[in-house]
Amino acid sequence: MPADFFNDITVQPHTDSSLACKYFDGKAWQVSRSGKTVSVMSPADASLVGTLQIVTHEEIDEALLKAKKAQIAWEHTPLHARVKIVHLASDWIRQFEEYLTALLMREVGKTHDDAKSEILRTADLMDYFADEAQSIKGETLDSDNFPGFDKGRIALIERAAQGVVLCIAPFNYPINLAASKIAPALLMGNAVVFKPPTQGGIIGVHLTQAFVKAGVPEGVISCLTGGGAEIGEYLVSHPMVDMVAFTGSSETGVAIASKAPMKPLLFECGGNNPSIVLPDADMMLTAREIVKGSFSYAGQRCTAIKYVLATPEVMEKVIPTVEKTMDELIHEGDSRSPETKMVGPVVSEKVAQEIVDVIEEARIQGGVVLRGGTRKGAVVSATLLSNVTPSMRVVSCEIFGPVLSFVTVKDTAEAVSIINGSTYGLQASVFTKDEGTGLVVAGTLNTGTVQINGSPQRGPDHFPFLGIKHSGVGVQGVRYSLEAMSRLRPIVINKPS
Ligand code: NAP
Repeated sequence: MPADFFNDITVQPHTDSSLACKYFDGKAWQVSRSGKTVSVMSPADASLVGTLQIVTHEEIDEALLKAKKAQIAWEHTPLHARVKIVHLASDWIRQFEEYLTALLMREVGKTHDDAKSEILRTADLMDYFADEAQSIKGETLDSDNFPGFDKGRIALIERAAQGVVLCIAPFNYPINLAASKIAPALLMGNAVVFKPPTQGGIIGVHLTQAFVKAGVPEGVISCLTGGGAEIGEYLVSHPMVDMVAFTGSSETGVAIASKAPMKPLLFECGGNNPSIVLPDADMMLTAREIVKGSFSYAGQRCTAIKYVLATPEVMEKVIPTVEKTMDELIHEGDSRSPETKMVGPVVSEKVAQEIVDVIEEARIQGGVVLRGGTRKGAVVSATLLSNVTPSMRVVSCEIFGPVLSFVTVKDTAEAVSIINGSTYGLQASVFTKDEGTGLVVAGTLNTGTVQINGSPQRGPDHFPFLGIKHSGVGVQGVRYSLEAMSRLRPIVINKPS
């Protein structure tokens, strides 16, 4: 551990192999008065990565009170000063990239390349947010455009902060999807209460320290740890929370939306993304995108491809090409090994068993397991299922693991109808050499984004990113997130007549 920088985030003494983390109350790193902690075990080797404090409701109240008090002064801090702080925090992340990469590998079971890329992408994203914030501006509107009005008024429309933003991140990109909320919230003048995921909370504590050391003033950021089930509802429904920015499963999203009535929400939830392969598709490109899209980070990506729709003739070509591509690209095993390209462990052995159970359920219902379907510890083997129908759980629910299903349809219209009938609506892909046809099909799909000839993905991060239906609320992407983290404040000047 880089001792000086991160020293105060842990209870002393500690060992590098197990970090007993404190929580940040807005002013200082603290041990909770609850006397309770939660252990974070590594999906890679089941070792203890460290412990997180479980904060009490009283400690939440105290942090929120500090945030409420500090927010107004922070909003009045010149933007250029806020920008400087966010740039400095991203510099710190780059400075400690190697240490943070190793920690992320251990804490959430990422391969070296995946972990490193998340750390560096986080720093890049924060810089981009800081740069873009400087071009967010208000506008003026004249009154006489609207029938019945003369030039008697002018509206000055400013962007104001939302207030105190609760930022809740998921385990699968615990630093990136925390920074993607914290940075725009701070830049737009909000105070942040950060609730990291339990698995991913240790990297979350480190991220908080980067902001603290970069100079975020007292009260403006806090990091409150503890299980979502224990402190989540209290946080989202708290009267001092003005906005909730959340990434996580659709189930949690739906549950917490009901606890935060009338609060602005920015939610990214479950994916369950389909791909339609048309007869003229470039099979090599399609297979490569499908394999990368399905099995990177063991399928634990909201944008992972979960099922492929094609007619019987197309399916006869897609399946063998996907299998061949898997042989080339996938090396299963220990996620800490740099040779492991695609498939490491899922988040826990318990989740691995649940995934294997859903595969078995599909098999009993008539699905054919072409490969995989087993697990060793938390590593689920990359699985292909054919003869699958949309009502099977493996297609109707988001299975957060390395499982890809093939659903045979009679035509494109049936594929579109299956996709539009899903409760999810994050992204979809259409593979065809005819981009005109791709555009037509894309125009009929009810998902946030449609990719033509590419697997679903979040980046580049300045593109709009949104889910519809149970996949999300609101729009993210650099400019869109900055706008969402602020509100319009029109001030109307009534001119003397
Ligand atoms: P999760 O179980 O829903 O948890 C997400 C976050 O919510 C965690 O910080 C969790 O804390 C917290 N939480 C749990 N219950 C809560 C409650 N009642 N009130 C408030 N907070 C609560 O999701 P996950 O397993 O970490 O992440 C995987 C899911 O996220 C997948 O469904 C994936 O598709 C989705 N995701 C979506 C996107 C997107 O952009 N659309 C991106 C990434 C991930 P604890 O960890 O302490 O329980």
